[in-house]
Amino acid sequence: MTDFEAPIPFLDLRAQYAGLQPDLLAAVTAVFEQQQFILGPQVEALENELANWLDGPLVITCASGTDALHLALLALEIGSGDEVITTPFSFFATAGAIALAGACPVFVDIDPVTFNLDPAHIESAITSRTRALLPVHIFGLPADMDAIQSIAIRHNLMVIEDAAQAIGAKYQDRPVGTIGNIGCFSFYPTKNLGGAGDGGMLATRDEALARRLRLLRVHGSNQPYHHELLGLNSRLDVLQAAVLGVKLSHLSAWNQARRQIAQAYWDLMLAAGLDQRLQLPSVPSGSIPVWHQFVVRLPQRDAARDFLSARGIATQIYYPVPLHLQPALSHLGYQAGDFPHAERTCREVLALPIYPELTPAQQRQIVAALSDFFP
Ligand SMILES: *Cc1c(COP(=O)(O)O)cnc(C)c1O
Repeated sequence: MTDFEAPIPFLDLRAQYAGLQPDLLAAVTAVFEQQQFILGPQVEALENELANWLDGPLVITCASGTDALHLALLALEIGSGDEVITTPFSFFATAGAIALAGACPVFVDIDPVTFNLDPAHIESAITSRTRALLPVHIFGLPADMDAIQSIAIRHNLMVIEDAAQAIGAKYQDRPVGTIGNIGCFSFYPTKNLGGAGDGGMLATRDEALARRLRLLRVHGSNQPYHHELLGLNSRLDVLQAAVLGVKLSHLSAWNQARRQIAQAYWDLMLAAGLDQRLQLPSVPSGSIPVWHQFVVRLPQRDAARDFLSARGIATQIYYPVPLHLQPALSHLGYQAGDFPHAERTCREVLALPIYPELTPAQQRQIVAALSDFFP
């Protein structure tokens, strides 16, 4: 490397904004001119566009991905006394939403190669209280939905997909988040489709569930001051809908750019022999991921991260602590050693920069630095 290589940020949303500024400002200005900020026409328009984009489910937007999970559980009447089986290797909201709904998260270990919930462990975790399976399409890679759906059918369980990181990913040609009973998505600013603040959505093909979700996001109310259900206040802001409407028209191209960057990482790492030194992501056949993150795995993770950081390359650790060992969930009684794959994964994963604006030169710089790390 030269001494003059510029630092590489982990994510650079300013580069995205630079290209979208006129369209975004026009969309936001239109909202101010109309002065209708709650459930205005932009929200309905966005829901219709998202429904088309996802090949036709019913779409209900809401205030965040976390609320989407919470609303899904409320709509399915999952709460006190119920158990929901999920992964210990995810963002906290996956399990937090289950616990906040009053139900009990039950974890099963992950597949150490895909980092997704391993369906082989599900059946032994099912009890008479189990109501739902909640797989996460972690880092934008589809979970093993055929296996999960068939277990759900056999045991009469609901399937809630946490597709917060996976909008546009496909499993056997079907968009993730539209395969189970309800799919939950996030528009957190750093997600593949990110707003200018919090936002989320639900997708379902079930009309009755969609109706319940629409009520539940407005205090369970269908008609002002008349309340059928106990709901939340969880609507997508009109300002966010306007921003997301502009960005949605770019999402397919952005996801495609992420795929090309992932492919380039592979090519460069294989050429450098790095596949002998670390675990590269691998994609099961029939899955098309959207590369929310590009995560490699290596035992010397912390040293590698420091080495890259000294070269100006930012990385992240998703996730340093598995959910079953989070203090907020200590009442569940899990212990270190309960899910060895998830625990070891937390010690070894390293997320490298991946975003549509990342240049080939930056990628070469990252892979060269990783090669230099190994003696
Ligand atoms: C981001 C995320 C969420 C929560 O979404 P918010 O919009 O931040 O509330 C839930 N699950 C996973 C896997 C996520 O990555």
